[in-house]
Amino acid sequence: MTDRPADKDDAQQVNDSDRPGGDAQKVDEAEPPVSAETTSASADVQPDEATSAPVEADEASADVHIHVPGIRELPLVALRETVIFPEMIVPLQVGRDKSVAALNAAVASGGPIALVTQRQAEREEIEDPSELYAVGTLAKIAQVVQLQDGTVRAIVQGQSRLRVVGFAQTSPYIVVKVEEVADVTPDGIEIQALMRTVQAQIEQYVANGAPVPPEAAVAARNISEPGLLADMVAYSPDLSTEQRMELLETTDVVERLKIVSTFLGRQIEILELKGKIQSEVKSEMDKTQREYILREQLKAIQRELGEDDPQMAEINELRDKVEQAGMPEEVKTRALKEIDRMSRIPSASPEVGVIRTYVDWLVALPWNISTTDNLDIKAAAKILDEDHYGLEKIKERILEYLAVRSLAETLRSPILAFVGPPGVGKTSLGKSIARAMGRKFVRMSLGGIHDEAEIRGHRRTYIGALPGRIVQNIKTGGSNNPVFMLDEVDKIGMDFRGDPSSALLEVLDPEQNNTFQDNYLEVPFDLTKVLFITTANLLDPIPAPLRDRMEVVQLPGYTETEKIEIGKRFLIPKQMKNHGLTDKHIAITDEAMVDLVRSYTHEAGVRNLEREIANVMRKVARAVAEGRKRRTVVDCKKLEDYLGPQRYEYGELESEDQTGAATGLVVTEVGGDVIAIEVTLMEGKEDFILTGQLGEVMRESARAGLSWIRAHAAQLGIKREVFERNTLHIHVPAGGIPKDGPSAGITMTLAMVSAFTGIPVRKDAAMTGEITLRGRVLPIGGLKSKILAAHLSGAKMVILPKKNEKDLRDIPEEIRKQIKLVLVESMEQVLDAALRRKPTPLVADPTKTTEGGKEPDMEPEHGTRVRPSFPPPVGQPPAMARTEPRLMEWPVE
Ligand code: ADP
Repeated sequence: MTDRPADKDDAQQVNDSDRPGGDAQKVDEAEPPVSAETTSASADVQPDEATSAPVEADEASADVHIHVPGIRELPLVALRETVIFPEMIVPLQVGRDKSVAALNAAVASGGPIALVTQRQAEREEIEDPSELYAVGTLAKIAQVVQLQDGTVRAIVQGQSRLRVVGFAQTSPYIVVKVEEVADVTPDGIEIQALMRTVQAQIEQYVANGAPVPPEAAVAARNISEPGLLADMVAYSPDLSTEQRMELLETTDVVERLKIVSTFLGRQIEILELKGKIQSEVKSEMDKTQREYILREQLKAIQRELGEDDPQMAEINELRDKVEQAGMPEEVKTRALKEIDRMSRIPSASPEVGVIRTYVDWLVALPWNISTTDNLDIKAAAKILDEDHYGLEKIKERILEYLAVRSLAETLRSPILAFVGPPGVGKTSLGKSIARAMGRKFVRMSLGGIHDEAEIRGHRRTYIGALPGRIVQNIKTGGSNNPVFMLDEVDKIGMDFRGDPSSALLEVLDPEQNNTFQDNYLEVPFDLTKVLFITTANLLDPIPAPLRDRMEVVQLPGYTETEKIEIGKRFLIPKQMKNHGLTDKHIAITDEAMVDLVRSYTHEAGVRNLEREIANVMRKVARAVAEGRKRRTVVDCKKLEDYLGPQRYEYGELESEDQTGAATGLVVTEVGGDVIAIEVTLMEGKEDFILTGQLGEVMRESARAGLSWIRAHAAQLGIKREVFERNTLHIHVPAGGIPKDGPSAGITMTLAMVSAFTGIPVRKDAAMTGEITLRGRVLPIGGLKSKILAAHLSGAKMVILPKKNEKDLRDIPEEIRKQIKLVLVESMEQVLDAALRRKPTPLVADPTKTTEGGKEPDMEPEHGTRVRPSFPPPVGQPPAMARTEPRLMEWPVE
């Protein structure tokens, strides 16, 4: 029959015997939305394939049969997989002979044509009505074009539904008997509601990306006829042929709208889901893509900056750090120069590390970081009181100092120096000052520093060089205005490695320290904002130039009462807290507290006291940890259980009067102390020998004292031969400290007089004072410490230089009441006060008495209870066991 491929044909061929090249019918109505593309597979023919002119259809004849009811006979074009609806304008490609013939016949007659879909698309020849669907469309032919290959392209417009009743003829083309089918359209709200629903669904369908032109939604809105609205949906390519057929066959418009609505609802859901899946896929893709692009950009930036080279990266990083460190311009230039140098040397060179460390140091220093001072004096006073008991004068001094600073910040105030034995609160005062001012606190010990480089740093040419301790501590403190405590200025050493004190001088001197030069840094650091406080145990050993720049604040030590109060108010609460104990766990009785101070510690400060209290707390804490529920009351007995037997006896002076011995008062590193100076006479040619740890100054004092005795030998009743035949042995069992000031002169002289004359010295007298050749008594330092020590050892009388009278203001009232203070100006007064009896002067001619050969004055006095101290009894313990040279045993914090 035909050799044309079936798949290209949507319509059957019609014989073209009737009107070859016939006119195409003109379509005069085109209101329904028309889209050739959306009308399924029938749109195969491209206009350029057309070689013949369009055939004009006879317009007038078109309407002839349309509205005629009843059975009609029409030429049939069977459709493959296409369903044409009323009002649809569709191009048809017609290839099968019978279809072409039918088409031509219709054109010739000017009548309409029946378009019915065949049930099996692949079927070539239609022989029986059962091979067609029952319902089809009556269509007008708008245009017919004969193509060269014998096929025909027609444009048809659906008119109405028809039902196939039977065949009237089958050759040369099929003529079907049909009856027109009208829509059943009830009036009412339901249909209106359905229409609206469908219109809205169409809109949504289009909006969600349905494969129809966007105007479809507008067109749907404009359709007022329900049946037509339903039919319009048939344009959607999402419909299958079966679904289209169902629509075509449904004449009940309500039913048809419902079918359409269900279909649309489903399609919308599908589209939404599709949209969701797509957007998910897209966002996933976007993310990976974004990351990829960013990474690429990063790489490009790094390449640009030269950071793909690790050394360059480091250099850039260092440079950034330098820019952000806020250094002074000079330092910054220096740092950047170093970094430049670093970038020019190979990364393997050890120099790189050296430079990096150097720049790191420059960056880490707080060039620009300062804390804001709180110069509220009242608040400062409160803080000082909070942290410390007593010390009124010292607190006042500190407050004055702060006040001056607050008024004239630029005024270069001298450096505070706290001088006193350990444990008197020097460090904690410094911390309080920092707290009161809101500054950071740093601390550095100068003890045992011999090398200038420790203060000033090593030059960078040394391997492993570092900045000095000053700069290191400033860095640790993190601000350029900390309270900087320099401990133990009295212990700074000096030797071949340089003089640390001169470096220290530069640190402390307000004239120089704005440009403190550290050997390592090589750039100056401004120390003017730093508040330096120095501490020392003794004033004497501090190098004079340093001492000059300091404002010395003496902290001589505490009286017993003060210690007890400090213990109760500060140390016990503090240690309780440290050990996690509360009032519920422990109470220390007042008696136990007195015992702690008197019998378990012997010191000027309160450091050992604190330690012993901590000891007690530890024991109690253990008991609590082991389950003790009741409160532990620590009384004297408990104290002995916890700390062992009492260690010190209160009052350690000699129990009897002594000849040839006297008790002196000295200041040592651990505070004031009593020392027993012993003198004995023995045969010998030398005038005296000195043993014990004596300083040069003491040696000179001894010589001066002896000379005074010789000069006054007659008054003292000592014969000349005594000096000629005897050697004096002066022993200071614990000679205090070598550099203790000249304060033992009168003590030595008194002991010597006692030894020469045999007159005993009062056992309860202690003394301090220097002697001149002419017997005048010179003032001494450290009076308060000495008197505290005398009190502690149980002395009833203290002999001291008249010139020190002014210092007596510092002596607490409670001590003054217990001790008789004897102010002396001359050696005679000392002898008056301390010797049990006046020496008997020699009579008239001193030379005569020397001839007697008898030395009555050498004999001890009779009648008084005297224990001669020369020769000292064998096995007699040193007069003051506890004044053995002490090791510095307190822990360095
Ligand atoms: P230093 O530096 O003089 O050797 P510290 O400042 O370390 O002594 O003091 C030792 C301990 O004694 C610290 O716990 C300190 O708080 C305490 N302390 C010293 N003096 C007083 C005081 N007057 N009031 C309260 N606590 C004190």
